[in-house]
Amino acid sequence: MGKEMDFGHEETFRKTGRNGTEVCRCGQDSGEPNMVDLPMSDCSSEPSPSAGLSPEALAEINRMVKEQGFQEALALRTCEIVTARWVGLKCRYGCANYGTNWCCPPAAPSLQATREFLSEYSIALLLLGRATNEHFYRNSTVKRRRQIRQWKRTVSLERKLFLMGYYKAFGLPSESCALCKKCSYPGRCKFPNEKRPSVEACSIDVLETIKRLGRSVELAANVKDSYNTFSLMLLF
Ligand code: SF4
Repeated sequence: MGKEMDFGHEETFRKTGRNGTEVCRCGQDSGEPNMVDLPMSDCSSEPSPSAGLSPEALAEINRMVKEQGFQEALALRTCEIVTARWVGLKCRYGCANYGTNWCCPPAAPSLQATREFLSEYSIALLLLGRATNEHFYRNSTVKRRRQIRQWKRTVSLERKLFLMGYYKAFGLPSESCALCKKCSYPGRCKFPNEKRPSVEACSIDVLETIKRLGRSVELAANVKDSYNTFSLMLLF
């Protein structure tokens, strides 16, 4: 179970699933041939606050998270991050951004690549907020401005964490990059320093991840409803 700014430690172990295949992180059977041997995280143990972070460091991270405009940061172990093939299916079928943006599939890391790089981290932060956006389903300046704000605050926090000593910090904003009115994909990216794969583009099931942390997820059924906003920050 994740806690607000409480960091756990990770132990590694291996499991063999049915048919002798390697069982994926989060207890899911990958079903993929030639599955790479991933270190498995024991998510059954409670996170320990003794992850080498001083109370001063925790307070400083909390301050930076708020300063960037996020409402809350939930610390979680990367073994608690749920990845699923259906997320990529939703990108491929039903999203107009597919194949048009450097931060979306197929340019974004595959499900397999995501599982591999997640295995190289122990702790992440889920950066949460709430928003209303009547322009959500429209291509409008207001919508783009909001997307850019969320994108930049994630990348900015990543830089601050890097400078704080978390050299592996890597931010995954949500939705797709809207820094340019029209992404230059497959041409050269105009702002490569800001380029990150979005969290959904990496086949991460954010809503299930949030639910498993004991939080409820509110979806906006009407354009005037508020909804959850999120970014993921891989920390160390
Ligand atoms: S910065 Fe521009 S070119 Fe680069 S990914 Fe974002 S929208 Fe595309």
